[in-house]
This record gives sequence, structure tokens and C-alpha cells, in this order.
Amino acid sequence: MRLTKIKLAGFKSFVDPTTIHIPTNLVGIVGPNGCGKSNTIDAVRWVMGESSAKHLRGDSMADVIFNGSNARKPVGHASVELIFDNSEGKVTGQYAHYNEISIKRQVSRDGQSSYYLNGTRCRRRDITDIFLGTGLGPRSYSIIEQGMISRLIEAKPEELRIYLEEAAGISKYKERRRETENR
Ligand code: ATP
Ligand code: MG
Repeated sequence: MRLTKIKLAGFKSFVDPTTIHIPTNLVGIVGPNGCGKSNTIDAVRWVMGESSAKHLRGDSMADVIFNGSNARKPVGHASVELIFDNSEGKVTGQYAHYNEISIKRQVSRDGQSSYYLNGTRCRRRDITDIFLGTGLGPRSYSIIEQGMISRLIEAKPEELRIYLEEAAGISKYKERRRETENR
């Protein structure tokens, strides 16, 4: 499962609709300080269901919406869409047969988030479910940010185990078991 496109609109500094194409497995984003490099990573994490504003370097969820600049007025909505190539069929379940998987999240100033899977409105759960066991996700090891290496080195055994279980692909089954036991 490979990320091929990131589409942003009204998200942080990306006020105008922008499509970032990711043509190969190795891509670098370069640019001057403050040009929006980290904002693209925040966008990826946000659309996969990140619910902590702090993890997105903001104080409240509405901080992800473009809040104006000298030249532009603030906007009312932010949206981010990720397009994944699923031709290898890594996604299981009802979306397994789709060659392309699109996940989208939208938020308005009242803080209401909506999620979409291949264009159909869905729950946050449906999005996080798709990524369980793939190594992707808002807090997964597929995003290594500043400070994470030292956090991993200093992690308690129980915390390290969570990363290992995700890498081994068993976190998905543990989650299902937890759900069943709670029913
Ligand atoms: P550095 O090289 O310093 O890490 P960067 O390219 O990673 O820089 P970002 O942190 O992605 O930069 O972008 C910061 C910019 O995004 C700042 O100019 C900030 O004003 C702008 N920004 C963040 N949130 C918003 C928002 N809600 N509305 C408008 N602009 C925003
Ligand atoms: Mg940065």
C-alpha cells in the first residue's frame, strides 16, 4: 500500500487546493523555514484520525484550518485527502478489491470532523481499522518525527511492545479481541 497523492485545501498554510504527487518510494520535501514542510506531515497524521491538537502542533482542532495571512482572509473549512495505491491488495475487508483507496477528512470551525472512505461518509473507526496492522496510522512508527528516536530508546518495555505488535501485524487481532470481550 503506497501513498501516491496528498490533496489539501484550507489546511494550515495550504489555503488553496493543492495536490502533492508522490511518484516514487523515496521523496524529499525541501524549502525554506516556515514554507509548510511539516504541515504536510501534520496533514497526513490528521486525516488518518489524529485527535490531539497538540500532536498537530496546535492548541485546538480548529487550528488546522487556514487562519488568514496579511493577504488572505481565514477560511471556514479544512480538508485533506490521501490516495493510496492498493494494487497489491494490502487492505483487507470490504475495500480489498479497490486498486485505489481514498481517505478524506474535513473539519469546519465548529470542530465537526467528517471522514470519507472512497467518497462515502464513514466513521473515524473505519479509517483507523483500514490501517491497523499496516504500520500506517496517526501515531504509528511509519512517521518518525523529531524526538521519536530518543522516545523509542527510552521507552518502557510495554510501550516498545506496542510498536513491535504493530510491525508484526498482530495489533489488529488484539484490537478485535478487545472489542469482542467488551461486547
Ligand atoms: P521548518 O523548516 O522551520 O521546520 P516548515 O517548512 O516545516 O519549517 P511548517 O511548520 O510546515 O514549516 O509551516 C509553518 C507555517 O505554517 C508558518 O508560517 C505558520 O504561520 C503556517 N501555519 C500554521 N498553521 C496555520 C494556519 N492555521 N493558518 C495559516 N497558516 C498556518
Ligand atoms: Mg518543520
